[in-house]
Amino acid sequence: MLDLKLYNNPVKVTWCPGCGDYGILNAVKSALAQLEIYPHEVLFFSGIGCGSKLPDYVNAIAFTTIHGRALPIAMGAKLANHDLHVICITGDGDGYGIGGNHFLNILRRNPDVVHIAENNMVYGLTKGQYAPTSQRGFVTSTTPEGSIEIAFNPLTTAINGGATFVARGFSGDPKHLAKLIMAAIQHKGYALVDVLQPCVIYNKINTYDYYRERVYKLEEAGHDPADRSAAMQRAQEWGDRIPIGIVYQATGEPTYEDQVAALRAGPLAKRRLAPLGPEQAEALRREFF
Ligand code: SF4
Ligand code: MG
Repeated sequence: MLDLKLYNNPVKVTWCPGCGDYGILNAVKSALAQLEIYPHEVLFFSGIGCGSKLPDYVNAIAFTTIHGRALPIAMGAKLANHDLHVICITGDGDGYGIGGNHFLNILRRNPDVVHIAENNMVYGLTKGQYAPTSQRGFVTSTTPEGSIEIAFNPLTTAINGGATFVARGFSGDPKHLAKLIMAAIQHKGYALVDVLQPCVIYNKINTYDYYRERVYKLEEAGHDPADRSAAMQRAQEWGDRIPIGIVYQATGEPTYEDQVAALRAGPLAKRRLAPLGPEQAEALRREFF
């Protein structure tokens, strides 16, 4: 195991005291240390939102994209250099709402990208509007009479859309969450880790106590993640009992980058650029000028 201090940097953390994002940050660092992945071997992407600041607080290479667009940019980076571990951090509004179409499409493409979705069921950074995963009846500044919409279920959508790894963690249990993130990094293919993350300022319903009374671990309940039907049933469970753990995992599916012929000779980022011959240069000049 590597020293956790390796991932510390001097950037001041600006999350509210008690925010669930602290547990996720600790779990991410712990997973990297336990897997002995050095900072230069991991590439973080994030969108916009409170949780998307997480890569700022890790000593690693990071790219903050624009709202909702982290997933396709992470996939592009993975295609350019598939030797790197690519971890994409989004919120629920960012990843499932504004970036919802990217979410749907990455599921069926299966690049080897880890997607950690900090699901606090609210837009936190923009001061508490309802989000796609907000529960029906959730009162916010934009839903003063309570949300009238059915909450988006990322787990059933991911399994149905072709994801090969789907897990749910709880930021109040960072040790368990670190294990899920490690499994997601080790999985070959797109891996979603949806994290129940209390927002202590704008979500007074889905609190630490709310989750502590309800969550149970799938690995202690005899769940087989390879059983797709059982996974769909567990993914729909919400209320008195909420499952956390690996919900679904399919092994042996090819990744996107495995199937791209141009990548078989190794990562593009590591190829030597052969000098153009006069005929190739002339053909390019004719095509583009
Ligand atoms: Fe965390 Fe909510 Fe504060 Fe954002 S507003 S930092 S999600 S507690
Ligand atoms: Mg949110």
